[in-house]
Order: sequence, then C-alpha cells, then structure tokens
Amino acid sequence: MKLQNKRALVTGGDSGIGQAIAAIFAEQGADVAVVYHTDAEGAAETRRRVEAAGRKALVLQGDVGDPASVAKIYEAVARDLGPLDILVNNAGIAPDDAEVADLTDEALESVLRTNLMGPLFCARPFIRLRRQNGGGGRIVNISSVAQHLPTPESAPYGMAKAGLGSFARSLSRELAEDKINVNNIAPGLIQTPMTQDRLDDPKARAESFEKIPWHRAGQPEEIARLALFLASDDGDYVTGQTWVMDGGLTMQWGGA
Ligand code: NAD
Repeated sequence: MKLQNKRALVTGGDSGIGQAIAAIFAEQGADVAVVYHTDAEGAAETRRRVEAAGRKALVLQGDVGDPASVAKIYEAVARDLGPLDILVNNAGIAPDDAEVADLTDEALESVLRTNLMGPLFCARPFIRLRRQNGGGGRIVNISSVAQHLPTPESAPYGMAKAGLGSFARSLSRELAEDKINVNNIAPGLIQTPMTQDRLDDPKARAESFEKIPWHRAGQPEEIARLALFLASDDGDYVTGQTWVMDGGLTMQWGGA
C-alpha cells in the first residue's frame, strides 16, 4: 500500500482521469474527497469504487474557479474527512474551438478560471492546512501536452496549461522548506469523455493516431499510475517538474 491512511482531494474526480486517480489512490489505502461540477452520477460511481476498495469517499459538488466554493469544499473536508495529505488539481474544461479573433470574453474567462486559477485557488488552502499540520504533502496538477505545444483555435486552453508549468516551478520553490512536492502531469490524447467524440469519429481517430508514435490513445489508468508515483513516497525526490505521458506525441518534431 503506497498511500496507507493518507487523505487526498481530487478535483474533477467524477470522470475520466480524475475518477481513475481517485480509484487507484483508494486501492492504495487513501480516503478520497471527490469534487465534481455537474456529473453527480459519475461522482456516485467514483464513491462506489473508493468504497469497494475499503476506503472512505467524501463526494462534494463545487466549482474550482470560484474561491468561495473552494472554501466550502475545504470546510466540508475538514469536518468530514480530516487533514489532507494530497491535492490533485485535475478539473479542467476543453472549450469549443475558436480563433482568438472570435473569442468571447466569457469563453476566455471560463477556461482560465477553471484550468489555471482553479489549481491556485485549491492549492492556497491546502498549503495553509499542511503548514498547520507540520508540513509535508503532495500537489499534482493535471496539465496537458498543450503546456508545450501550440494550440491553434484553442489558445486559452494552451495558455492555461502553459501557466500551470510556471505555477508548478514557482510553487515548488515556495514550498520546498515545507517539504511539499509540486509536480504536473502532461497527458497526450487520453480516452475520456473529453475526447470521446474525437475517438468515436473514425476519420478524426485515424488522424490523431497517425500523429502519435504509439498509434493509440492512453488510458486514464496510465495517468493514474503516474499520479500515484508522484503522490507516494516513491516520488519524494522530485518537485517542480512536468511529466509528459503522451505515447511520444511531443517527439513529433519532424524527420523520419
Ligand atoms: P473529463 O471531461 O472526463 O473530466 C473533466 C473533469 O473536470 C470533470 O470531472 C468535471 O467535473 C471537472 N470540472 C470541469 N469544470 C469544473 C469546475 N469548474 N469545477 C470543478 N470541476 C470541474 O476529462 P478528462 O480528460 O478526464 O480531463 C481531466 C484533466 O485532464 C483536465 O484538466 C484536462 O484538461 C486534462 N487533460 C486531458 C486530456 C485527454 O486527452 N483526455 C489530455 C490532456 C490533459
């Protein structure tokens, strides 16, 4: 058991990558607070998986882009679960494609709030809590290969994920004396509800797989195993880094 009696908060734990992370953390001995935005059924399924592993699940509705909502999440966790050891900032949205010239203020704001400010809003109370409890702890942010690659027609998504790279580097320095590790995972194409339309469309799927040296999508469980490494003692000597897991997608810089 790599997370025996630890307590973790996973944002967006109702679906896709977050659900797989909540499940593997529970299988490795952690109690898990699962934050969902709208998918109560998905959150109930995550609860079932966490409890099937013999651990406690605390399911909470909330909006990571709203500091008042985040404060309520932390109040509920303190009351009903106990001090957290691990924060996984996984919640994110992928908006409809739009060129910058056509981008509405609302679309820009919602992506930056959820994907970039949300992780900071969630990290702030986590850091205070860990300091009150003697330090130590883990922050894992789910970024994207968009942290490194251009994202035409989706500039705010790339801006937010690139910002997470800087966030992890800066925060790793701020929190080193507290022994709180901060790392990002940058997934490539992973099979989740976010990418299901693309993967269900034979043409779009073939085009996507052609660009990936591994010629397949990754599974949420593969990302979850990396999150487990970073959240456990195995990842103690690594902080401030972004871990790309993409079947080689970001190695496609041209050439044979
Ligand atoms: P998903 O759509 O299954 O999950 C997204 C999650 O974010 C949902 O659980 C939802 O509840 C949560 N969420 C959205 N807005 C929220 C808000 N305002 N407050 C709280 N929760 C909110 O997709 P996924 O693929 O599992 O995505 C998880 C993370 O992985 C995201 O940050 C995404 O950007 C990132 N990612 C996914 C892929 C991929 O190919 N699937 C690739 C790179 C990065």
